[in-house]
Amino acid sequence: MGAQKGIQRANEIYRDRSRRVLELKADGKEIIGYLCIYPVIEMITAAGMVPYRLFGDIREPKTKVEACLPTVVCPYLRSVMDIGLKERYNFLDGVVMAHSCEVAEKLAHIWKTYIDQKYAFFLDVPHTIHDAAREQFRDLINDFKLSLEKYTGSPITDEMIVDAINAHNQQRSLVKELYDLKKSDKPKISGVETVKVLMAIMSLPVEEGNELLEEVITEVKGREGGDNDDKKRLLLWGSIIDDTALFELIEDVGADVVIDDTCVGTRPFFPDVELTDDPLVGLANRYLVDIKCPRTFKEANFGEKKKDYMEDLESRFGYIKQLADDWNVDGIILHSLRYCDIHGYDIPGLKDYFESVGIRSIYIEPDYTEAALAPLRTRIEAFLETLD
Ligand code: SF4
Repeated sequence: MGAQKGIQRANEIYRDRSRRVLELKADGKEIIGYLCIYPVIEMITAAGMVPYRLFGDIREPKTKVEACLPTVVCPYLRSVMDIGLKERYNFLDGVVMAHSCEVAEKLAHIWKTYIDQKYAFFLDVPHTIHDAAREQFRDLINDFKLSLEKYTGSPITDEMIVDAINAHNQQRSLVKELYDLKKSDKPKISGVETVKVLMAIMSLPVEEGNELLEEVITEVKGREGGDNDDKKRLLLWGSIIDDTALFELIEDVGADVVIDDTCVGTRPFFPDVELTDDPLVGLANRYLVDIKCPRTFKEANFGEKKKDYMEDLESRFGYIKQLADDWNVDGIILHSLRYCDIHGYDIPGLKDYFESVGIRSIYIEPDYTEAALAPLRTRIEAFLETLD
């Protein structure tokens, strides 16, 4: 495959995500699907199985899901369920779903009712980051470990968990290295290519994902970089985007998505797991506190001071401004899928915050269909014209 090896392989896996895990399954590996970014995938790796992220399909009409999920809930989750009901996730040996949001919690139970798989686990996740919540989450992760041990019939030792943490942390470092290649004036890799690479590694065992990332990074480092200095540099924030279509639209009208804060982008990869004496403590801290998703309530620490709205916004959203500064962005696209309450509730605060720090933003609310994206083109073009 020569010089195109990494990117080309990522493209192939993006187009046919299950192909590699089906080969592994034929060799006796067990494949565990996981929904959203809260199932602790290190535990699946430590148990010797392959974590495989569940995505929907914005191009596929939803024809089966009406039987069990109404139209006024997350269209991404409806799509995942629809695909499950069409038996396209039947190759999975099991699934792990978590209490990411209320609908995801419901989906875990609905899935178990409608789809017969050998293994299913629901990981409850507290919604606050207080000490008691962290301790509780550590114990809930331990319940997940015990359930995997029962399923596989083999113990999962601390050493196995630490090895898995190290492998996933290595993956996180490589993803950060890839994003660093988008910091220059001429980003060396586009948003479209980035999302393909990330979706590919979420469809592979961690070691294979790391090899793929190393190939991609070597290949991308050898590039000259983009050819258009005039392109606007954008940050994309929001709920799940598991398809290249929105990135294609944005990049087609003269912008580069150089950084993001979405749950297929930096959000699942930027925070590492700290190695603690009890590895479950490090995992609990990372998943509950360090992952920045609006599903977790984070109180601002005002100490003795009176509460102040702008300080609250700074404490909740300052990390996004840091990303915007580090990647030198011109503007921000705020994306919340239709009916995604947890992202939608943050929009007014985010708008106020970015206005206060002088960064222009636009809010879009597509409904997880390819057709919903076309009308956004004109709005995004108009937004780009407002950027200095
Ligand atoms: S997009 Fe929103 S509603 Fe849908 S799964 Fe994610 S957090 Fe939940």
